[in-house]
Amino acid sequence: MKKSTPYLFKVQLKKAFLVAGLATGFFTSLVTSQHTFANSKVTHDELAVSQAPAQYKVAIVIDDIGYRYTDKHALSLPGNITYSVLPHTPYGKKLAKTAYEQQDDVILHIPMESQSRTDLGPGALTKDMTKRAIHESLENSYREIPFAIGINNHMGSYLTQSVSHMAWTMNFLKRNNLFFLDSKTSAHSKAAEIAKHLGVPVQERRVFLDNQLTDTYISQQFKTLISVAKKHQTAIAIAHPHPETVKVLTKLIPTLASHQIELVPLSSLYDSPLVRRKIAPKDKVKVASQKVIRKEVGMAVVNDAEPKEEPLKFETQIETQIEIEEVQQSFIAPPPIKLDVKLLEL
Ligand SMILES: [Zn+2]
Repeated sequence: MKKSTPYLFKVQLKKAFLVAGLATGFFTSLVTSQHTFANSKVTHDELAVSQAPAQYKVAIVIDDIGYRYTDKHALSLPGNITYSVLPHTPYGKKLAKTAYEQQDDVILHIPMESQSRTDLGPGALTKDMTKRAIHESLENSYREIPFAIGINNHMGSYLTQSVSHMAWTMNFLKRNNLFFLDSKTSAHSKAAEIAKHLGVPVQERRVFLDNQLTDTYISQQFKTLISVAKKHQTAIAIAHPHPETVKVLTKLIPTLASHQIELVPLSSLYDSPLVRRKIAPKDKVKVASQKVIRKEVGMAVVNDAEPKEEPLKFETQIETQIEIEEVQQSFIAPPPIKLDVKLLEL
């Protein structure tokens, strides 16, 4: 792949970042560098504030990598971005490798059955599959990108409500020391609870950044992300590799430091030795001193709507989405799931 200037710049930054061994140093070096990101407007005030130690942590996951050649532009986003790659896609494997080589976290974006959509794409898990079929499908996807350190669900508003299918998925993750990120495409997802039952490290998405592809919407969601991070100490956002998203995030990410927010790899938000073991030694410096504050059990920020997901053979398509009430919404926790002992078998 021809490496673009932003890509090379990012690699250089990451190298400097690793040598320094200071996660917060990234933003300082970013804003004091002679190089500045296009459209970035970091003021002197922001610079002064950004030198204060970060109090909050945010991870941004770019989903749906793999179908479009232009997805490569998302790899130039500044800082510690996590890339979630669709299996068996034209560009997925290559872009995953590039992301891995530039020391970004890479996870698998596993299509799961949705309540309304049928165009799930290859590697999809559906309700009619057996435990064996689920495991074989996950194995095939994992084999393609063996350096993936976890998975999250692409769509999945239907399947994440199935206790047995989530248990079988978690069985596979447990056996391979992988973590789960619940994209939370259904308010009734059982994925996190089942993962905890089975000892699989799990976190949940808090904010979707680009359900609408306008500067105004993405900027508003970014503000929501900042306020959620300040309230909960940590927050995970999901976005997609749309040109509009890349443009706006390139401008906004450097401003996180002025809010004492550190942009961290997704893996660093998992307080689990299993996850730590999966991270290459060179990356450990990034996470060694990071303490994880897990979100409260029994409270969940949910999105009742299917998020905007990429149909599989199409150009950018904007769907109207229900605005996500990220902060205020909570729900009464359902009764604990009782797992059949058979579902505990790996
Ligand atoms: Zn997706």
